[in-house]
Amino acid sequence: MSTAADAVTEALSELHTRFTRLRDGRPADYIPQLARTDPDAFGLALISMDGHLYSAGDAGTPFTMQSVSKPFVYALALSVLGLDEVSRWVNAEPSGEAYNAISLEPDTGRPDNAMVNAGAIITTALIPDTPAAPRSDRILDCLSRFAGRRLDVDEQVYASEAATGDRNRALAYLIRSTGPLPVDPVAAVETYFRQCAVRVTALDLAAMAATLANGGVNPLTGDAVVPEPVAAQVLAVMATCGMYDASGEWLLRVGLPAKSGVSGGLIAAGPARFGLATYSPRLDPSGTSVRGRAALGALSERLGLHLMHNPALAASTVTLVATAGDLPAAGAAPQDRALRERVGVVVAQGAIDFTAAERVLYALDESRTQGAGPVVLDLGQVTGVDRVARAMLRGGLGRIAAEGVRTAVADPARRLALPGPGQRGAPPDPRSFATREQAVAWCAGGPAG
Ligand code: GLU
Repeated sequence: MSTAADAVTEALSELHTRFTRLRDGRPADYIPQLARTDPDAFGLALISMDGHLYSAGDAGTPFTMQSVSKPFVYALALSVLGLDEVSRWVNAEPSGEAYNAISLEPDTGRPDNAMVNAGAIITTALIPDTPAAPRSDRILDCLSRFAGRRLDVDEQVYASEAATGDRNRALAYLIRSTGPLPVDPVAAVETYFRQCAVRVTALDLAAMAATLANGGVNPLTGDAVVPEPVAAQVLAVMATCGMYDASGEWLLRVGLPAKSGVSGGLIAAGPARFGLATYSPRLDPSGTSVRGRAALGALSERLGLHLMHNPALAASTVTLVATAGDLPAAGAAPQDRALRERVGVVVAQGAIDFTAAERVLYALDESRTQGAGPVVLDLGQVTGVDRVARAMLRGGLGRIAAEGVRTAVADPARRLALPGPGQRGAPPDPRSFATREQAVAWCAGGPAG
């Protein structure tokens, strides 16, 4: 579809190639059906707040959500009952323990958080269950809205976990024995097994993570799945508790709210930026995907995504996508008008980082109405371009130029120029002009010279 925005696909593909070589770890087998998955399946997906989809590898391969379902069911519980009520039954402290640990507060019996099994089982139990709207239907509906399409349950994986999940049943009995819960965790554990067996792809998980990142509104469907404060609450708990006993290290190094599951799924969310997901069933001893962990860590570093490094961007980046023919052209001769009609124009503003650069690249592709037309990028109103964005914009413009068409920037402040002396072998600077009009006139001037 696109050319310029392929910078994102390229980053995902590179990671896919690089980490396919990782062959450590193996699929979970304590749920027998999970041991039957292809250990080498590997997919990555990213969805932006504008609903742009990027993927590499097996991003369309189905697998079960397992623990990746937990933040979304927690979101449902928070939407229905509110944070104060949910917090009476489930705390929000990192446990520093494994996913299936018996981490219950000694005095209250409250589980440490909703990301470990004990807390997730209670959270599931808190979802109202009525004959008209059974709990498991409500959960499946909610998960489907997060994904933006109708999901279903993998009955074989469900049956496999139901047949062997005595540790989770034991946890549920233990919870019931410790406190005056308003609901029955023992009954809910079967629903919990069903939510874990909901079938998704990496692209679905990216949409689900993007919905949390987008204040609870699914960027693909526009559906307001949960209120904005709930999305923020869930992301906060994912940031501190989503990676079990490795949560602190993950936040330190990768810096994104995340959640892993034993089937090999892993999600991460960049608030107001994107949703990311990987799928690879080879797990490390803590139950997290080896390749997923490595790929998301590398992606965060490469694209400068660490939450604590990046202030959120203000307002819109792209202020105009048009062809030069739509713009005023004082003194242009009629024959020039026809040439100008072919020139795509994108005007950007503000500070440009990875997120903003992705928008600009996407708009560049959009502006090329005639498929392979020349294109002008106007950076006259841009206040800054960071390292990552500069490389992306230069790369995107270079890819269009490589098709043999003219590309130019109106870049009076020379923000796309590389700092320091030019390096040998580096791609050439994009053709740069002081004004948009000069850039358009050059681009309208015929084939690339
Ligand atoms: N269904 C799994 C269990 O409860 C989920 C665990 C996980 O994905 O971490 O054991």
